[in-house]
Amino acid sequence: MFMSAKISPRLSKTRFLSGLRCPKSLWLDCHEPGLADPVDEASQALFDQGHLVGALARERYAGGILVEEDHTQSWQAVGTTRRLLAEGVDCLYEGAFAHDGVLVRADILFREDLDEWVLLEVKSSASAKDEHLPDLAIQAYVLSGAGVPVSSARLVHLNTGYEWPGGPYDLGELFVEVDLTAEVAVLLPQIPELLAGMRRMLLGPQPQVPIGRRCEDPYPCRYYYGRCHEFLPEYAVTELPRVSEDVLDALIASGYYSLRDVPLDFPGLTARQRTLCYLARTRELRIAPGLAEVLEVLDEPLYFLGFETFGPAVPLYPRTRPYQPVPVQWSCHVLDGDLRHRGFLHTDSSDPRRPFAESLLEAVEGQGPIVVYTSFERRLIESLLPEVPDLAPRLVAVQGRLFDLEQVIREYVQHPGFRGRTSLKYVLPALVPDLCYQGLAVSSGDVASLRWAQAVHGQLGEEEREQVFADLRGYCATDTLALVRILERLRSLAH
Ligand code: SF4
Repeated sequence: MFMSAKISPRLSKTRFLSGLRCPKSLWLDCHEPGLADPVDEASQALFDQGHLVGALARERYAGGILVEEDHTQSWQAVGTTRRLLAEGVDCLYEGAFAHDGVLVRADILFREDLDEWVLLEVKSSASAKDEHLPDLAIQAYVLSGAGVPVSSARLVHLNTGYEWPGGPYDLGELFVEVDLTAEVAVLLPQIPELLAGMRRMLLGPQPQVPIGRRCEDPYPCRYYYGRCHEFLPEYAVTELPRVSEDVLDALIASGYYSLRDVPLDFPGLTARQRTLCYLARTRELRIAPGLAEVLEVLDEPLYFLGFETFGPAVPLYPRTRPYQPVPVQWSCHVLDGDLRHRGFLHTDSSDPRRPFAESLLEAVEGQGPIVVYTSFERRLIESLLPEVPDLAPRLVAVQGRLFDLEQVIREYVQHPGFRGRTSLKYVLPALVPDLCYQGLAVSSGDVASLRWAQAVHGQLGEEEREQVFADLRGYCATDTLALVRILERLRSLAH
């Protein structure tokens, strides 16, 4: 009788990295990829940004030939790469190589010597990170096995110290090259055994892997929400702030999934984590003495201010750096007997900083504290000063009136719903449950920034642009209304 041998699925760089993080993740990638969480808008924007950075990096290392076949034509890409190398090409972009059952694409490859190649991996990150080492190592392994010996493995990332003066980008300054050849060489001997282990695992049933820190580190796994974490109860142990990998693993191995069940003497918990477990169990709200006094300075007229920003990977406005946040929108509620709202949104692709600063001054100059949340607004006003020196003294005066409500929460209020944190995402629903961002078309700062960029930099039609602007105005106004309502609640709790 004919018996068909089981064949392990083919691997790629992405799958290899997935398998290093978690065998279950690799198994699902190969056998049930449809279970992956959908790619959200913010993640898609990161991919798009990566493509833009990749294209600029190719200009930095100019003169190469792009292997154009995409991931759906990988084997044609391998053939094209072979042909180009045989023709004596010295620099390749997106070259495709296969060896030992693994297929990789190399961002940039250039010939250093007759038979030696430099491998460059381009990332839109601001620094080299640990996870970049296996990324380069699997590529170097496959390339060398495919007859393209790699003499140097380097990471190319964005230089956040580069201030763009305007004009053409100085690509030598925009990018930083980090030589990781020695670190990659240490990993290379381990790769055949790692690959063999992955293949063995893939021939078996889905591995049972407990959830843990790996699920979010260095970024959320594709199976996080829909597959592996959906069983977790309210107050899940994964929400413990700053929990170490060892303590989280120990909690899960001991069968504790809810903070409400965790014994307060569980080994390794910090004082802050123990307090959160206690509050989750008792649902106790704690107010420290002195809250009423600290709020007494907030006399009317009272301003509630919030900013939205845009921080592109590659600078778009002169005298900015990669990822530097540039303010594009403000919202302000004014409480002076009654409650009024004003706002500003920059709606074209010009530099938003001067109109932002001028409109802000016009709205908030005068008397009265300005309530903000965190030091974000203070830092952004600071970043505006060199750009609008004629307005600097008036902006500094505005800085002097800022009152940080997050500091008050941090020092005086503990609530189980905060999950040990003080960001608005946790504080607002806990203190003002009837006001939330659900139902708004824009419900987070990341999405606001992304939609603004789409609308202003010309990727949308006129009707869509206007809708986005209306959504952004609604979102930012909700942010500052949230401050009004949180202060109201704090005052009622303080008395
Ligand atoms: S969510 Fe966690 S356990 Fe599940 S596949 Fe991903 S890394 Fe593995």
